[in-house]
Amino acid sequence: MSITATKVTKRFGNFVALEGVSVDCPAGKLVALLGPSGSGKTTLLRIIAGLEVPDGGTVHYEDDDVTHQSAKDRHVGFVFQHYALFRHMTVFENVAFGLRVRKWPEEKVRNRVGELLQLVRLEEKAGQYPAALSGGQKQRIALVRALAPEPKVLLLDEPFGALDAKVRVELRHWLRRFHDEFHVTSIFVTHDQEEAFEVADKVVVMNKGRVEQQGAPIQVFEHPANEFVMDFLGNVNKLPVRVEGGKALLGEKGQVEIPTRLLGPKENGRADAYIRPHELDISRSADGGNCMLAQIVHINPAGSIVKVRLLAGDFGLMINVDITLERYRTLELKPGEAVYVTPKAAKIFPPDYTI
Ligand code: ATP
Repeated sequence: MSITATKVTKRFGNFVALEGVSVDCPAGKLVALLGPSGSGKTTLLRIIAGLEVPDGGTVHYEDDDVTHQSAKDRHVGFVFQHYALFRHMTVFENVAFGLRVRKWPEEKVRNRVGELLQLVRLEEKAGQYPAALSGGQKQRIALVRALAPEPKVLLLDEPFGALDAKVRVELRHWLRRFHDEFHVTSIFVTHDQEEAFEVADKVVVMNKGRVEQQGAPIQVFEHPANEFVMDFLGNVNKLPVRVEGGKALLGEKGQVEIPTRLLGPKENGRADAYIRPHELDISRSADGGNCMLAQIVHINPAGSIVKVRLLAGDFGLMINVDITLERYRTLELKPGEAVYVTPKAAKIFPPDYTI
């Protein structure tokens, strides 16, 4: 069951929450709606669910136009940030709830609930009340409760938002495995780019009620469409440069040339060059090269990549550089030392034109 939203617009009074948003979610895939707070993710999810009617545009489930169909008739499973389990019902009854509403026969209910509880390894909690569960366990129950009536579509709104970092990571891996088993077309809202990139087959990056970019995680990460996407994905150095004759120059006197394939119109003027931490190198000598003198402020060697934070005083810039453990050992870097930082690659985007 594929889901397609086409040119969806939604206003709340004078405020435009969504403007001409088109998103497609292929059958059986897991799609993440990613964006900062207020970008319209939840509004779009609610429109896809049938909890909200758009002012313009359409929503299709496969070939059916469901734009004006109620949520009840769309056969959608929901999971919200706050598990919203029924406190006065046992875990078993929580999962069984949607089946009882649909008047499934008792034996079928027992089999289905048993099977799902086994899947999330919470069979032994069947007779307990939600209060006896941890946050992660509650969210697993919320997920199987949503899946119990075999929905055609699963929609999740910040499903791990209320959990601590470690449980979040565990649950996101679990959601991915779970999805691979069920293949229910799923859309989940998150403002956490790491979560979106780790879990989803496709990422839709939203900003101010519009879609900035959508595609496979690797495609979005390696080929961000614009400055917003590049910045929002995080972990990037932003260097103010002057573009002159097709070259990007850093510093008042244009001392350092930033190697870049200019993506925009090659206009002279100011621009921002975006460089990811692994696209910079650290060395002990300038070698007459194209580099910045910088002082090491902090080193984080915990992990397979060593993260070095430096201050390039001449340029008034803090710079983050990732180097391999091997390179770090060879260079024997220490905080406070002065070293040379060489940019190896950068991206410059065309300026935003508003017509
Ligand atoms: P968050 O990550 O903070 O949940 P979001 O990207 O999901 O944000 P939405 O909840 O879709 O954003 O909200 C988009 C914008 O629409 C926000 O500015 C919000 O204040 C506004 N909005 C949403 N629902 C309503 C409503 N019922 N009435 C008025 N304004 C609303």
